Parts: sequence; C-alpha cells; structure tokens
Amino acid sequence: MLLIQNARIASENSADLLESDVLLEDGIIQSIGKNLTVPAGAKVIDAKNRILLPGMFDAHVHFREPGFEAKETIQTGTEAAINGGITGVVMMPNTSPAIDSATVVSQVLETAKRQSRIPVYTSGCVTKGRHGKELAGIDGMRALGVTMLTDDGDTIADPAVLLRAMQYATEFGMFFASHCEVPELAGPRALNEGVTSYRLGIKGSPACAEEIIIDRDIRLAHAAGAHIHIQHVSSALGMETIRWWKNRGDVKVTAEVSPHHLLFTDEDIGDYDTNYKMNPPLRTKADNEALLQGLIDGVFDLIATDHAPHTPFEKSQDFVSAPNGITGMDTALVSLYHHFVATGKFGWDLIVKRYSAEPRRLMGLPVALIEEGKPVDLILFDPDAETTFTTDFMKSKSRNTPFINQTLKGRVDLVVLGENILLERQTS
Ligand SMILES: [Zn+2]
Repeated sequence: MLLIQNARIASENSADLLESDVLLEDGIIQSIGKNLTVPAGAKVIDAKNRILLPGMFDAHVHFREPGFEAKETIQTGTEAAINGGITGVVMMPNTSPAIDSATVVSQVLETAKRQSRIPVYTSGCVTKGRHGKELAGIDGMRALGVTMLTDDGDTIADPAVLLRAMQYATEFGMFFASHCEVPELAGPRALNEGVTSYRLGIKGSPACAEEIIIDRDIRLAHAAGAHIHIQHVSSALGMETIRWWKNRGDVKVTAEVSPHHLLFTDEDIGDYDTNYKMNPPLRTKADNEALLQGLIDGVFDLIATDHAPHTPFEKSQDFVSAPNGITGMDTALVSLYHHFVATGKFGWDLIVKRYSAEPRRLMGLPVALIEEGKPVDLILFDPDAETTFTTDFMKSKSRNTPFINQTLKGRVDLVVLGENILLERQTS
C-alpha cells in the first residue's frame, strides 16, 4: 500500500490541479480524497507542492536492438524511459535485421518481456528490409499485435508501393507513420538549408524536401482511405499542410512534434556540434514558434521524442559523416516543463493530453487515468526541484543530447506502474 498525500493531480481535461491524497493498493487506485486515513502498514509520501501525472507514453523511439546494441538495447532504452517518467513506448523498426516480419517482431517482444519493466510495443516496416520495393510481412506482424507500419528513417520513394500497402493493410485496422523527406533534395541529410548551412559550407536540406512528402503521403492516405500519421514535423509550412488536411476532415491524419523541433534551431549547431544533428533537421526560430502554436492548436496530436541513441565514437565524426539523431527520453518531460509549463506557454493539461493520453489512443490502448478503480500508472513530478543531466543521470546507453550537463527546472521523483515502484529518486 502506498499513500501519496497532498499531491496536485493533473489531467488532460483541465488546467487546474486538484489537490488530493491518493491511495494505491494491489496495483489499483483505491481512493482519492482529502485527508485520507493512513492505513496500517502503508508507505506514505508527502507530495505537498508536487504534481501527480499519469505515466507518459512515447510513440517514437529507436532502441537499436537487434543489431546496434552498442548504441542502445531494449533494456537500457526502457530504463531511460522510466528515468524520464515514461511508462510505455513504441519502437521504430529500423533495426538490423529490420522489424519487417513476424519472426523479428516476436523476437523483439520476447526480449522486451524479459528485460523491460514497462510495456514495449513495436511498429513494423512497410517494406521488406526498408528497401521500399516489396511489402513486408504485414499480415504476420498484424497477428502479433502490430498496428503501426513505417519505414521511419526513410521515405518510401515509390508512391505506388505505399499506396498498395495502404490499400492492403487498412482493412486490417493498421495505420501508417511517415518519415517525410525527398532524398534528392535533402543532400547529405546533415542540416537545414539556410544561414548555418552556407556558413559551414555543407549543402542543406530545404524544408520543401519534407513538406512535399507530408502532402504526398496524406494525399495517398486520402486516396486509399487509410490513416496516416506524420512523424517528427520540423517545418512551419509542413505543419500548415497538416492543418489544411485536418480542416478538410475527409482523411484520417494525425501528427507528432518532437521537443527538439520546438526548442532548437540550426544556429545552435554552432561549429559543427553533432548533438544538434538530426533528421528532419533543426530549422529556424520562426519554425519553432509555428510548431509550438500548432501543438497548442491541436494540429499535433502528440509529442514524441524520436529518441535516437548513437555512440560517442559515431557522433565524434565530422558533421556530415556523423549519424542523425539525439536521445530524448531521459530529458523530455523536464525540458518541456522548464521551457513551456514553467514559462506559462502551456499547462500540464497539454502535457497529459499530448504526451500521455493521445499517444496511447493512437496505439489503440487504454489511456492512463488517475481515477478511483483505475490501474496504477503514474508519476510524481517536483516543479521546485532541478535536474542536472550528467552522464551519471542518463540511463540511455548513449549520451548524444544537447541537454548534456545542463540544469533545468523540474524533476521526476517517482514512477509507479501496477504494484511496482519503478523509480524513487532521493528526494530532499
Ligand atoms: Zn524519422
């Protein structure tokens, strides 16, 4: 039994925080109310001034297993999730071998069952080996519960292949997630085309490389009657394209934005700092602001980190050769709090809706709720504490993040899932 006293409970439906005690027993929220009696033998946490939230859910993570375990494993990746207050994740299938068949899906899910303390879901490839030619083993993956199909990391070059996959898989209730980029326009896929790319002398990737495919893939979904989810949108015009299609209302389109595309610009790259290298690339301040407005307006259904670990050796190469991506799960919630909630840009209700409830709805999962009778899936967050993202703090196997050694406001103090306390940070 765990009694959390005087917590301020956040929900997706209200910006107000309801102060209350919460009693957890046998993995169920037994009661919520003021001044609950302390049951004999209960562990008590005084959560005065701290925020109680449902566990976060990240619908876009790269765990690198199988094939690239030096960067991350399912075990280290899920521990990074817990460290950041995330209690469920969806893996991307660009592993080696790629997750493109029932065999690989079952291997991944078996590993997760043994090594993860939180639920792990996986997406499956649209095409075999992510080569963009033949369809992957969609039927077999569906039988194992896969609902999201994506060749994330690359766009499916041939629109006829994607259209055929949409026509085939939509009747099974599956949906598509698109990484949007015309490779011929994107050059070496290193950074945005703009002042920084000219200064560094590297051919940049223009925003239109992304926007063209956002529009193309929504049009294909429109034609096929499919559900399309647009991943990690980085450009203002890309966001407006999604808004336009959503306003039409005749195609099911959802979209995600990553914390780094809300927070950083290509100018942060400075002198070739590879911790700011990702794909789609960081763009401009105007894009940051437009994406933030898109998140507030609901053009973006969810926040997802695109957690993309790489080894220090890989990231220490020259800017063009270094791989794309940054880690995100250790830092996401604290950075969103520090930059947006603490500054009054948006409230906790938006975080709960866009980083806990909507990603679970996208995956067809029950939403985590802090209500009597519901299964325990919650975190406690201290807005008055700070977190310093030292290498010791990070649970991801990799450290490629712009937040390394930064101190931000906010700290995840407690993560409880079912009957288990997954994280209890030493609290002052
Ligand atoms: Zn991607």
